Amino acid sequence: MRHAVLNASQHEGRARAGPVLSRLLAEFPHLRARAKELMPLVAEAVEEANSWPLERQESMLRERWPELLEPREAEEERGLPPLRNVERFEEIRTRFAPNPDGPLHLGSARPVILCDEYARMYRGRFILRFEDTSPEVKAPIPEMYDWIMEDLRWLDAEPDEVYIQSDRPPIYYGYAEKLLAMGAAYVCTCPPPRFRELYLSESPCPCRDLPPEAQIERWGKMLDGTYGKGEAVVRIKTDLHHPNPAVRDWPALRISTEPHPRVGERYRVWPLYNFSCAIDDHELAVSHIIRGKEHEVNTVRQRYLFEHLGWEYPEVLSVGRLGLEDGVLSKSRIRAGVEEGTYSGWDDPRLGTLRALRRRGIQPGTIRQLMIQVGSKPVNATLSWGIIASVNRRIVEPRANRYFFVADPVLLRVSGIDGEHVARLPIHPDHPERGTRDHAVKPEDGRASFVIAGQDAEGMSRGDIVRLMGLINVEVLKAEPRSVEARLHSEDYREARALEAPFIHWLPEGVGVDAKVVMPDTSVAVGLAEPRCSALQVDEMIQFERFGFVRVDGTSPFVAYYAHN
Ligand SMILES: [Zn+2]
Repeated sequence: MRHAVLNASQHEGRARAGPVLSRLLAEFPHLRARAKELMPLVAEAVEEANSWPLERQESMLRERWPELLEPREAEEERGLPPLRNVERFEEIRTRFAPNPDGPLHLGSARPVILCDEYARMYRGRFILRFEDTSPEVKAPIPEMYDWIMEDLRWLDAEPDEVYIQSDRPPIYYGYAEKLLAMGAAYVCTCPPPRFRELYLSESPCPCRDLPPEAQIERWGKMLDGTYGKGEAVVRIKTDLHHPNPAVRDWPALRISTEPHPRVGERYRVWPLYNFSCAIDDHELAVSHIIRGKEHEVNTVRQRYLFEHLGWEYPEVLSVGRLGLEDGVLSKSRIRAGVEEGTYSGWDDPRLGTLRALRRRGIQPGTIRQLMIQVGSKPVNATLSWGIIASVNRRIVEPRANRYFFVADPVLLRVSGIDGEHVARLPIHPDHPERGTRDHAVKPEDGRASFVIAGQDAEGMSRGDIVRLMGLINVEVLKAEPRSVEARLHSEDYREARALEAPFIHWLPEGVGVDAKVVMPDTSVAVGLAEPRCSALQVDEMIQFERFGFVRVDGTSPFVAYYAHN
């Protein structure tokens, strides 16, 4: 009754017997063998619960089983906290600013989801900005611009506006000239070791105090090629006595002769990260910067630029790093591994890229939910595959239809069967309306042949009883490494329960289609799947019974990727 009332209250007052029974069996697994007997009792309870109005069902829950209501309330509270100082801005604008030197990974999903969620929460705008102005340090990969867009679309976090910094040097040049003209920046031609000595001793270099006209002239020489690479750099004036030397007169633009992978040799002066980032945060009217807490020094640097230009600095939300247990998230390590062939590609199942997760059947909703749970605090967090799997399982379980996959098949011959037997297996036990998958077994001279999983065959010995799920119970007569002889023992599954016989999956010999399942460690489970698996759609999530949830990756030949159990 408790489950019936709860189910009714969650479905506008109408409970359904199937889900109630499965909730009941989930709570009391020892009742599974008696599901048939329970069915009429469940139907009775459902009928009674449905006869009451929704208000009565809800008040009953509150009074008699308040504990059932708690998890739902907790889930509702699990949203993100509000943003600070929202009233400062006309519109809430968040930005995600990746370097297109690799596809997105689970660590980048954190800022993406936070930006997208906050933009939605305040009906604002979510901006994507490609930060690709350091071709020599972190060379962009041309196809990654599209890949990142695809990753965002898959996450259901499509940006409202997209900008590419390698298209914007004229904007950065304009501000550089303005800063040079107003004496807030200077072109430094000191050799880097000399400059280092000076700033570490809190002293200005000789370039710092040259008049604006001289600065503008030097700037012209940066642009026209008079200065070579490394011979001049624009620096922003800060405080030479700042306790953190890294903040003192930081470099803003430099000469780069390397052709840019996207715009080639169109520009020879490129902004450095802090300059282009700060200019664009202002130019694009970003209201809240969500950034890793490792960027704290950059925030300090960039505030100087905002002060010079008389701009107000956006709100900053520092978030911690997100790690993945046993998963590789470092972009440089992934890139090296892909280039060297250590990984099969950017979607190698061992990696923490969104592509790898997607191929394994991890759903975008799972990632969003996890990121909201991790939240927007400046603490580092590490996700385990177990947590990812538990969230994902809840999402895919109701959708995933069930099939048999016999890995490493071993032949099982059974004698003593008279007449045709048909196994009617539910496509989904909670959804009888999806129908059954039927396997007919037609014995010849009382004998029929099956395939069973190598792992199931391994432990068998003479005298063991096993149940072929949905079909018959058999007694093992002889077990050899690649074949098992058995005879019919009985038909009723209750007999197998009483004998504590294992229930194993199987297929009639000769009907299965060749199937491969790529496992998380890239090993491949080879076997036979139910013939109807070849009619499935790519990307469909299914459950191979007693094996795990998999994502269909291809159907001819049939290939799936293992998600979790
Ligand atoms: Zn200098």
